[in-house]
Amino acid sequence: MPRPGAPLPLHRAGTADLCVAFVRALGHASSDALPHVLLGSLGSAARPDGAATDLRDAALMRALVKSRAEPGIWLEDVPKPAIGPNDLLVRVHYTSICGTDLHIFNWDPWAQKTIKVPLVIGHEFEGSVAEIGSEVSGFEAGQRVAVEGHVTCGHCRNCRAGRRHLCRNAVGIGVQRPGAFAEYVAVPAANAYALPPGMPDEIGACLDPLGNAVHSALSFELAGEDVLITGAGPIGVMAAAVCRFVGARYVVVTDRNQYRLALARRLGATLAVDYTTTTLDAVMKELGMLEGFDVGLEMSGSPDALRGMLAFMNNGGRVALLGIPNQEIPIAWDQVIFRGLTLKGIYGREMFETWYRMGTMLQSGLDITAVITHRFPAKEFAQAFDVVRSGQCGKVVLDWTA
Ligand code: NAD
Ligand code: ZN
Repeated sequence: MPRPGAPLPLHRAGTADLCVAFVRALGHASSDALPHVLLGSLGSAARPDGAATDLRDAALMRALVKSRAEPGIWLEDVPKPAIGPNDLLVRVHYTSICGTDLHIFNWDPWAQKTIKVPLVIGHEFEGSVAEIGSEVSGFEAGQRVAVEGHVTCGHCRNCRAGRRHLCRNAVGIGVQRPGAFAEYVAVPAANAYALPPGMPDEIGACLDPLGNAVHSALSFELAGEDVLITGAGPIGVMAAAVCRFVGARYVVVTDRNQYRLALARRLGATLAVDYTTTTLDAVMKELGMLEGFDVGLEMSGSPDALRGMLAFMNNGGRVALLGIPNQEIPIAWDQVIFRGLTLKGIYGREMFETWYRMGTMLQSGLDITAVITHRFPAKEFAQAFDVVRSGQCGKVVLDWTA
């Protein structure tokens, strides 16, 4: 066995050794025992598309692996995951890149303390059901699915009360268990969401971040309200579309990135302003707002953005905090107290009310297509990550079907 953290000698090992080494080092996804992993992956030579393949093809798949404790990710052949009785094996079609993936790629301090290499990364994806665990009902082979990336324990107080998004023991696909930047991924069937008919595959790959936007936006009554969104990243601009869709009056988005401000306008922001040149005071004057914003969605993680937002909330205003700060943020608590503000932390998506509502809103006219600005074949992942790093983008999608 390699020592923990050591790169695995993937390309020198025989297939069986390789499976053993890789699966042990990864900590396999399913609750199945290791021999099943080997049998499961080597025993079947059939592909979901029915094409004949040799034994090696059937056992291995392409995946983006964080295989070394240093900056980078690597496209490697790794064993196809095996599924447990309650799992689905998903043939991945499209994936989209999240800021989390960039942290893992860059190997920043958060990634160093969170990620155990080697690990297949990625958690935003769409695909079709390729294999169904023996205890699973309600899914069919070939059915298109997207998947909730937080795998919950099922036995803590919140899970048992149906509040799975508040599970104390959640683990992340592509963070603490093998991910979806791969041809196949094994997931608990309970985490799969059947795509409504007519939903484009690529949109399916963006449901995870759209779900962050929907969870934040639908936390509060929005009809007729004035909303401030700080941060025009992919989630901020999708949130703007959601707020308009459900009937907000004004939706103001702030950022300094001109590309993203333009995207926010395309997705329906009433005003998208550069916070380095335009004050919220000026915005309120331009819109004829007399009192302040009713709802705030903090989607940048920036201390200045949060402080600025609190200063411009109306009395009784409600603020959802999604952006993840990388430091403690001192705020003027007297503004929160004397003006009766409500602050709500948002993590992930409500399972599965957020999924249900984003599906039905997409079916009834919510259009987030423009948030997908770049598409690459999976093998061009390095360019795709460069685009994400540049910030000159909305969602960047990788195609695993080629
Ligand atoms: P992103 O990093 O792509 O976008 C953040 C945007 O904020 C950038 O465009 C940046 O220019 C802008 N920004 C920086 N400082 C600002 C300021 N002072 N005022 C206004 N805008 C400012 O992020 P994303 O993928 O859209 O995600 C949004 C945030 O949500 C990130 O902080 C991300 O880490 C976080 N996130 C949280 C969860 C959760 O479950 N809580 C899930 C996913 C992402
Ligand atoms: Zn739980």
